[in-house]
Amino acid sequence: MSTSVESFADLGLSETLLKTLTEIGYETPSPIQAQCIPVLLEGHDLIGMAQTGTGKTAAFALPLMETIDVKLMKPQALILTPTRELAIQVAEALQSYAKNLPGFHVLPIYGGQSYTIQLKQLSRGAHIIVGTPGRVMDHLERKTLNLDNLKTMVLDEADEMLRMGFIDDVEWILERTPEKHQTALFSATMPEQIRRVAQKYLVEPREIKIKSATATVAAIRQVYWQVSGMHKLDALTRILEVEEDFDAAIIFVRTKTATVELADKLNARGYAAAALNGDLNQQMRERVIEQLKSGALDIVIATDVAARGIDVPRVSHVVNYDIPYDTEAYVHRIGRTGRAGRTGNAILFVAPREIRMLRTIERATRSPIAPLTLPSRADVTNKRVSDFKAKVSEVLNAEGLDFFANIVSQIAEEQNVGAEEVAAALAMMAQEAKPLQIVGEDPRPAPAPSFERDSRPRPGSFDRDERKPRSSERFDRGDKPSFESRGERPRREERPARSAPTGDMVRYRIDVGRDHGAQVKDIVGAIANEAGIESRFIGRIGLYDESSTVELPAGMPAEAANALKRTRVRGIPINLRPDEGRPDGAADRKFDGERSFKKKSFDR
Ligand code: AMP
Repeated sequence: MSTSVESFADLGLSETLLKTLTEIGYETPSPIQAQCIPVLLEGHDLIGMAQTGTGKTAAFALPLMETIDVKLMKPQALILTPTRELAIQVAEALQSYAKNLPGFHVLPIYGGQSYTIQLKQLSRGAHIIVGTPGRVMDHLERKTLNLDNLKTMVLDEADEMLRMGFIDDVEWILERTPEKHQTALFSATMPEQIRRVAQKYLVEPREIKIKSATATVAAIRQVYWQVSGMHKLDALTRILEVEEDFDAAIIFVRTKTATVELADKLNARGYAAAALNGDLNQQMRERVIEQLKSGALDIVIATDVAARGIDVPRVSHVVNYDIPYDTEAYVHRIGRTGRAGRTGNAILFVAPREIRMLRTIERATRSPIAPLTLPSRADVTNKRVSDFKAKVSEVLNAEGLDFFANIVSQIAEEQNVGAEEVAAALAMMAQEAKPLQIVGEDPRPAPAPSFERDSRPRPGSFDRDERKPRSSERFDRGDKPSFESRGERPRREERPARSAPTGDMVRYRIDVGRDHGAQVKDIVGAIANEAGIESRFIGRIGLYDESSTVELPAGMPAEAANALKRTRVRGIPINLRPDEGRPDGAADRKFDGERSFKKKSFDR
C-alpha cells in the first residue's frame, strides 16, 4: 500500500467514529483516507484527486462528521454530487458512519423526487444535505434550504458535474454559501474549469493526489469480469468451478466483516474456505496459512493487511472480489499467485462505476486486463460431467469392485432392468449433494465497458443513433423508458443491461437556446438528472437561438413533467411543454442542430 498509516486511530478521529469503523469492519484507512482525513480535521480546504473505488467518500465524510453538532437540527454540511445515484450512495455511507450518533440525520435531495416529500423532509431538518446541483439550487431559491449554519461544503466528482453541464449551477451555489466554511473538492481529473473554480472558491487548499506508481507485474494471467446481471458470489463460484488449473485461491475483499461473510457462504456451498483478517491473532493467522499450504483449506478470504506477505506456492488464483483502492494494492494482491515459478491467475471484479479504476490499473501496470466471459450453465455442467467421469474412471481401476458389481447384478435382476439403468440411478444418487446440471437462467452479457458506459448518464457521449429509438428493435425487446423514483430504483450495478427504447416520442419545447449559451450536452444532462430519464431515452435535440426542442418518450408521468418544468439549464428554468410549432418564428434561426449535435457529441 502506498501509505505507512496502518490505523484509523492515528488519524485523529474521535473514539465514537473509531468504534463505528471497527463495527462496520473497516480495518485500515485507504491511501486517500490516510492523507485527507488529518488535513480536513485540521480545517484546511482541500483538493483531492481521486476516483470511485479509492475510498474517497469516507475520506471527506469522516472528518465532516466530527464537525456536526447533533443538537443543532440545521444543515451544517452540503455535499454536491453529479447524479442522484451518487447522492443516495453518499447519504447511505454517511448514515452508516453515524451508527453511534443518535439523532444524526442526513438528507439526499435530487431531481425527479417529489417536492412535497422533499419539503417535508427539509422542514423536519437535517444535519447534512447531499444533493444534485439543480435541485439544491431550486431549494435555495425557494428558501426551503438555508445554509446559514454551513460549516463544510464538498464538491464530489467535480469533473463529472462539469461534464454534465452543472458547473454554472455549482458556482451559483458556491456564491450563496456563507463566507466562512471549509470546502473540499474531489475530482478524478483536473480540467481547467475545475482548477478555476478551485482557485476562486477554495482558500489555500492542500492538494492530495493518489499516485499510481507504475509497476511491472509478473507473468500472471489477468482478467476482469464486469459485474452485471448476477451476484458476485454466484459469478465467483461459477468461475472457480470451470477454471482449468484451479488449486487454491486468495479472495480479496475490503472489510473484515466481508471476509467472514464470504467464508461462511463459500463453506455453505461446499468449499473449504476461511477468513483471514486483522481480528485474528498471529497464531490464528499462521494456522490459516498453514492450512492453505497443506490443502486443508482451498480458499482464504482476506483483507489487504492480513494477506501481506503470504507465500503459498499452490495459490493458483487471486480474486479481487472488491476492487483495490490503488494500483499498488493491486500489484501486491496479485503477487500472491504465480509464485515459485508456477502460473498464476488474477481475476478482478469491476462494477460499472469502477471501470475508470480498471483503466488506471492497466495503465500503471502497463499490462492489459482482458474481459472474462462468465461461464454459461452448459460450461459448468460440462465441467462437472467431465470431473464426474474422471472420478468414475479412477474408481473403475480400483480394487474391490467385485462386491459392488454383484450388487448391481442383483438389482438389475430384481428390477428386471439393464445394468446401464442401474448405473444411471446410482450416478443420479452420487450427484445429489452437488447436482451435475445447474438450473436457472444465464444472465445477459454486460455491455462492452468503456468510460461512456459507466454507471451514470453520460449525456454528451452517446451518439445520435444510440439516442434515437431504433424501430427495428422496438418489438423484440421489452425495454421501456424509465422514469424511476428513488424507492423503485435499484443501483445500476444490480440492474441488467438494457437495450434501445420502445414506444413513441413526443417533441417538447424549452425556453433555453443558443443565445443563453446552452449546448446539447447541458440539456441532456439536466433532463437525465432531474427527471430520472436515462440519456439513451432522450431523442433528438434542436438548438435554436432562444429556445430548443427535445424529444422524450411518450407517457411521461406528471411528476417527471413537473420536475422538468422547473429544471434549469444555464440558470434558466426550461419550462418544458409540448412543442406546438415554432413560437419563435422564422427569426429564430435553427442552429444547425443535427450537425452540431453530432459534432459536439464527439468533441469531448
Ligand atoms: P468509494 O471510493 O468512496 O466509493 O468507496 C468504495 C467502497 O470502499 C465502499 O463500499 C466503502 O464502504 C469501502 N471502503 C471505503 N473505505 C474503506 C476502508 N478503509 N476499509 C474498508 N472498506 C472501505
